[in-house]
Amino acid sequence: MPEIAENLKALNQRIAAAAGRSGRRPDEITLVAVTKTVGASQIRKALAAGVTDIGENYVQEAIDKYLQIGAGPRWHMIGHLQRNKAKHAVGVFDLVQAVDSLELAEELGKRALTVGKTMDILIEINVSGEESKFGIKPAQALSLASRIAQVEGVRVQGLMSMAPFMDNAEETRPYCAALKALWDRLPDEQRRFLSMGMTQDFEVAIEEGANMVRVGTAIFGPRRA
Ligand SMILES: *Cc1c(COP(=O)(O)O)cnc(C)c1O
Repeated sequence: MPEIAENLKALNQRIAAAAGRSGRRPDEITLVAVTKTVGASQIRKALAAGVTDIGENYVQEAIDKYLQIGAGPRWHMIGHLQRNKAKHAVGVFDLVQAVDSLELAEELGKRALTVGKTMDILIEINVSGEESKFGIKPAQALSLASRIAQVEGVRVQGLMSMAPFMDNAEETRPYCAALKALWDRLPDEQRRFLSMGMTQDFEVAIEEGANMVRVGTAIFGPRRA
């Protein structure tokens, strides 16, 4: 079996096991294959091996690959999005995961309406309060979600977060649990996706309630720096 297919098989088994430990079925967890720095030919191998969702961090890089791969998979914007890129983002992405301001949501809504689309978004939470991270403070999440709910052209579908990097994945557990508790307080119509967990900590994230994980390295191997 080719390496990417083999990696995916092992990853899906680990996802299924973690889902089981949290009382859920494997198909309740969406795997977003993170493809930053990964070329279109590798992405095609992942799609052939069953990947349905791919995540990119930069709009231009995503556009380049979208032109080669097309709208088959669901495209996720997982990086920080600048407002002046909203127009292009709306053209490519199915879910913009890292929205952390009303202004960005308004711009996405405006651009989405002009092309007759509703842009699904997640609100990015800075769950650890680290200064260097994007995302809003947990205490502001619910009020931002209710304000964005009034914005035409966008639809809040949940929350996303990156736990701080820890040597031991267990140390991310409290952050994952805190994000899950916040997600539980969203109104029903916004409580669709809880996106947390990467190669290093996806099992802990699933055990704590994530239903969407974003994994790159475990599928494609280490990225060239
Ligand atoms: C790169 C990235 C990931 C995936 O990281 P891996 O450690 O390669 O699994 C997930 N989420 C975001 C926001 C990323 O930038």
